[in-house]
Amino acid sequence: MPGPVVGWLCPQGPLPLGSRARRTLPLRSHAVTVPGDAGPRVRGSRATRSPAPPGIAPPSALVLRLQEICGEDNIFWRAEDLLVWEYDAGFDRHPPSAVAVPGSADEVAAVVKAAHDAGAAIVPRGAGTGLSGGTIACGGAIVVATTRLRTIHSIDAIARVAVVDPGVTNLAVSAAAREAGLFFAPDPASQRISTIGGNVGTNAGGPHALRYGSMVNHVLGVEMVLPNGEIARFGGAVADLPGYDCVPLIVGSEGTLGIITKIWLRLLPLPEDVRTFVAIFPDIDRGARAASAIIASGVVPAAMEMLDKVTIGALNAAFDVHLPADAGSLLLVEIEGLREETEDWAASIERVLKKNGATDVRSAATQAERELLWKARKLGYAALARIKPNNYLHDAVVPRTRMPDVLRQVNAIAERYGYVIANMFHIGDGNLHPVLLFDARTEPIDRVMEASAEILKVAIDAGGALTGEHGVGLEKNHFMLWVFSAEDLQAMRRARDAFDPVGTMNPGKIFPGGDACADIPTERTKRALAEGMWV
Ligand SMILES: Cc1cc2nc3c(=O)[nH]c(=O)nc-3n(C[C@H](O)[C@H](O)[C@H](O)COP(=O)(O)OP(=O)(O)OC[C@H]3O[C@@H](n4cnc5c(N)ncnc54)[C@H](O)[C@@H]3O)c2cc1C
Repeated sequence: MPGPVVGWLCPQGPLPLGSRARRTLPLRSHAVTVPGDAGPRVRGSRATRSPAPPGIAPPSALVLRLQEICGEDNIFWRAEDLLVWEYDAGFDRHPPSAVAVPGSADEVAAVVKAAHDAGAAIVPRGAGTGLSGGTIACGGAIVVATTRLRTIHSIDAIARVAVVDPGVTNLAVSAAAREAGLFFAPDPASQRISTIGGNVGTNAGGPHALRYGSMVNHVLGVEMVLPNGEIARFGGAVADLPGYDCVPLIVGSEGTLGIITKIWLRLLPLPEDVRTFVAIFPDIDRGARAASAIIASGVVPAAMEMLDKVTIGALNAAFDVHLPADAGSLLLVEIEGLREETEDWAASIERVLKKNGATDVRSAATQAERELLWKARKLGYAALARIKPNNYLHDAVVPRTRMPDVLRQVNAIAERYGYVIANMFHIGDGNLHPVLLFDARTEPIDRVMEASAEILKVAIDAGGALTGEHGVGLEKNHFMLWVFSAEDLQAMRRARDAFDPVGTMNPGKIFPGGDACADIPTERTKRALAEGMWV
């Protein structure tokens, strides 16, 4: 049997979760790279407590109308109040012309109607943890945030369905489902902050997407405010309704079809047994081969994650996790199912890991140890701020068998450009997350984007996809030309036009070209890179 993980993670035995680890979180908030609920406090903003001082333009007619709908405290329009809404966890930034934070679906509908009538574009926003610039307000758009829509309406344990508002966090749904003896499978690493609306918008994945699939497999229905302000419902508590199924089209539509105001989620029974293993490898190559070998052996783990040496070092420096400092890579493998199954799989996984070069294999002995391992994995991104203040991350997907070769090429690109690179990713489903670390105060962003585009190209040339879970957003819109023909993109536009013929919702996202976001400096660079590398 594999040894216990105690000793690496916490030499004195399991830590009470959230105690020391939380105390040792010295990370400072940094411009565009540190995750978090980027929305400001909803109430009491200076935006609305006093009239505009002399010399400052008064609120527009649209802002006045939005104030009537949502209340003055829930509309932001002054330049200084808009600053915190101009970015998400991705790289680009641009201020919206105003922000509305409605308190009900009816208010969302009235806000959308007012914006539509005023000819203003609209950007839906959850917690702003998106990593592809999906909430950046291009083309003078207003932002509509779901911060106040945070009710879990019901958890039906018999039907295994949860009905929730879009602003509820992913973790809150998981916790509520667990209390009802059920399990909500999508678990993005951002789950403490990211919202279900944002998870639907991006078709979020997470470690457990390997076995259970991403959000699209867990959304039964949505209520959505259409771009003209109508409220429509697609699907619902019952799966497989007759007629066209628009739900999978809406999931992953990145706010380009409407604003989701209620979601029906599929819940699953809790597995009887869960086992979590950590394997240490001398290098990333052997770790990647072992991951492929596990799947080839016929076992499909619930999750399989890889951390490289740089990430392990950053985690050890930032938190009290005590991972083996000399590890070249670490594989986190979780299996779940009936006890008889997991016993068999456990033996087989350990054999495969060792055969493929693991120098040590351990397993979590308790639920607390298991949660600690996952906490270490999910804090990996934040820990990278220990090394450099900024980072640039993509989430290309590559066929699993090409993983070792692609990782070698990705690391070679980073070395050629002279960047430290961290790799921490969902290796089980081939979802890469190469993170280029840099300091935006001294290093030009254009060069970082150039290296990053080369990495994307390697993944595409290996038969991969542009994005596995973060969405296309503003960040990869021009690179869509690498994978889709003009006809493909036109067909997608026609689907979008069926919902939004005028282009009110989230302009400048997903599709390449157009001038909605032309005043964002990095847009020009991306366009040139996408076009240059295509030729
Ligand atoms: C540390 C960290 C770890 C992460 N780990 C993962 C991971 O493991 N897996 C993963 O998939 N992602 C991950 N992400 C990315 C991000 O958390 C997800 O994309 C998440 O789904 C975004 O949720 P959000 O509430 O922050 O949405 P936002 O960033 O606010 O919005 C994301 C997109 O959804 C749209 N949207 C938001 N709300 C609505 C709505 N109500 N109606 C219609 N459209 C809407 C927005 O317009 C935008 O296009 C991570 C991010 C960070 C910072």
